[in-house]
Amino acid sequence: MLRRSFDTVRLPGGLHLMFQSVADDGGTLRTWHTIGLPVRLTLTTVTQTRDAYYGPADNRPPGQWKRVLRALATANGRPTSYYCPSIPPSRRGVALAVPRYTVELRWETRRWDEAVTEHLQRPCPACRAAGWRRAEDAT
Ligand SMILES: [Zn+2]
Repeated sequence: MLRRSFDTVRLPGGLHLMFQSVADDGGTLRTWHTIGLPVRLTLTTVTQTRDAYYGPADNRPPGQWKRVLRALATANGRPTSYYCPSIPPSRRGVALAVPRYTVELRWETRRWDEAVTEHLQRPCPACRAAGWRRAEDAT
């Protein structure tokens, strides 16, 4: 069962702070991002339940600590860039992860942001396969 919530906070100077939260039985994804700055700042937190992160309590796969170490090694540092052959992967940011929790801060230039918005108006086959749609279609 998916639970979603949205909120927009109006800040002085024409700035907006958008908040979005998506939760299911496996955990919660929260995103805040700014609108109106030359650079779009995005803060994302991911919280996963024990069962979602480690596997079902009564049936955890072997070699747990190796899997956790590998997951932490890929989750920390530079966030994985969204890849599409038509959009250069120019996302920047930093991510901190411990088991079951991840915090990520990204910054994207307005030009890049516009290129993505424009591209997703007519997504290429790769983007469609990845489930990207126009924002108005997604709601
Ligand atoms: Zn694409």
